[in-house]
Amino acid sequence: MYNKPLQVLFVEDSEDDKELLLNALDGEFAGIVHARVDSPAALRAALTSQDWDVIISDHGLPQMDAAEALRIVQACGCEAPFIVVSGSMPEDVMVSVMTAGAADMIRKRNLSRLVPAVKRELKKSVEVSGLRKAQAYLRHIACYDQQTGLPNRELLAQKLAQLNDASGQSAKGALMVVSINRFSLIRRTLGIEAAEEVLRQTAERLRKIVGDDGLAGSLGSDRFAVLLTAPGAAGDPAAVAERVTEAATLPLMVAGQELFLAPRIGIAIYPQDGQDFHKLAVNAEIAMSQVEIGGRRSHGFFASGMSAAGEGRLALEQALYRALQQNEFVLHYQPQIDVRSGRVVGFEALLRWEQPDGTCVPPVSFIPLLEETGLIVSVGEWVLRTACAQNLAWQDAGYPPLRMAVNLSAVQFRQAELVPMVRRVLAETGLEPRYLELEITENVAMHNEEMVIETLSELRAMGVSLAIDDFGTGYSSLSYLQRFPVHKLKIDRSFVIGITEAAPDSPIVRTIVSLARNLGLDMIAEGVETQHQLDFLLSCGCAEMQGYLFSRPAPAEEIQELLDGVRHGVH
Ligand code: C2E
Ligand code: MG
Ligand code: MG
Repeated sequence: MYNKPLQVLFVEDSEDDKELLLNALDGEFAGIVHARVDSPAALRAALTSQDWDVIISDHGLPQMDAAEALRIVQACGCEAPFIVVSGSMPEDVMVSVMTAGAADMIRKRNLSRLVPAVKRELKKSVEVSGLRKAQAYLRHIACYDQQTGLPNRELLAQKLAQLNDASGQSAKGALMVVSINRFSLIRRTLGIEAAEEVLRQTAERLRKIVGDDGLAGSLGSDRFAVLLTAPGAAGDPAAVAERVTEAATLPLMVAGQELFLAPRIGIAIYPQDGQDFHKLAVNAEIAMSQVEIGGRRSHGFFASGMSAAGEGRLALEQALYRALQQNEFVLHYQPQIDVRSGRVVGFEALLRWEQPDGTCVPPVSFIPLLEETGLIVSVGEWVLRTACAQNLAWQDAGYPPLRMAVNLSAVQFRQAELVPMVRRVLAETGLEPRYLELEITENVAMHNEEMVIETLSELRAMGVSLAIDDFGTGYSSLSYLQRFPVHKLKIDRSFVIGITEAAPDSPIVRTIVSLARNLGLDMIAEGVETQHQLDFLLSCGCAEMQGYLFSRPAPAEEIQELLDGVRHGVH
């Protein structure tokens, strides 16, 4: 593992004792480079002049003790493991040096422990540097939309904040939200791949049109954004909107077909229509919703009279209340497979809205509104109860007990009621907590980390298992991953999509898998659609999967047929 010479810094006042330590290390490493210091000043000088793999410190030096040496090491920003070797050291001093961050404590009479301790610490350092690299990578992917490569909401928000910082009060800007009409129709009729190609090509056009006038970004799904920051462009967003319209209406060649798209654009002006990105985006979205499809103009400006309850939105909101009262919500279940055994190991419950006319509305179209109106709290509880009851019903019917995953929204997470609600639902349905898994997204971590950790710990203590959904697409930070008491990472579908026959490798997926492994977390990949994706994921060490390759989400009766098939060995 370590084939370069080991660089050891001894904090030691006796040359003889240092020789003793060197002898103990001798022959175990590919050479040793070392130095000895015995004063605070010499220690600081040694730390700044060179990198060290390990620091081995005596305790009672005339000019400092081990605790003082450790403080200096930490103050210099040196992260090398700090091992104390001492003849005699009182118990309480040992404890305090260990809690201050020493890697190990070794008695001189036990010097045979030194080599294993150094090797163990070196291995840890290698892992930590692997994690650091992964973190830098995640920070990058956290800022870009994976499908189009455009900056995402997060990065756009940062740019807006920078604009303000750089030019103070007088900063001017504009945010345009661009949506593609009939995008969902394209997805339904031509398929997901064609729809994604449409997004990619549109992204490319936007990027060209916007050029240096600002920043083209993606807001997810069929929503693009253009943040105009250059003084000229920000002063005339209508002109930019015209150019965007022109470019977006040129036909696209996708899946051998010529497609004609029409964009709708809503514009909000910074700072008058919103002081921060979120507010601006909401207002630009409202302005967009008022642009008539097929109307004379493809863009519209936000006006203060427009309210969040635009007509379409109001109708949707009312329909959602009706849905709740009239039981139009149903759950579909998607099996999760362990591909090593071929067994179903669990399900994910996914919400569906079946309208009286038979249309099934996908959750992305209504969950944001449920969240904004707070209805998600009641609907979320209904989802949890229904999913737990269904899971128990399968167990009662004699199927092997499996885990049921249920999605939690960040809004639910902010409710003080969440933990008691989960406890109550489990008690009322009679499902054992270990058969419930709650999925949260990374974004819950954006608010009040302490509270999130506390809530997660309470849920975990209850025996419920916890997964991070859509991992890698949101606010990815290693520090929260290390601190959050979760069991599992769900590798987001957008990373799995990248694994194709032509490019059957994905560094992102490899990184995430090794990250999960380093942190001792379980993992499952979402959105697995092809054998290539399965093979690659399995070769990386991710064996649990969920996706159309195995089964689409389906109503409970259909899932039961699938379980029957498995039980009778038909598959
Ligand atoms: P999610 O939790 O990441 O769920 C996975 C989504 O991927 C589901 O979309 C599922 O149908 C889809 N999917 C699974 N396998 C494949 C595949 O192989 N290919 C493709 N193209 N898609 C696949 P769905 O059901 O539309 O749900 C979308 C999102 O809505 C969910 O993402 C989740 O964030 C949210 N959601 C769904 N039900 C609930 C719920 O009860 N409560 C909350 N808070 N959110 C929910
Ligand atoms: Mg999920
Ligand atoms: Mg997901």
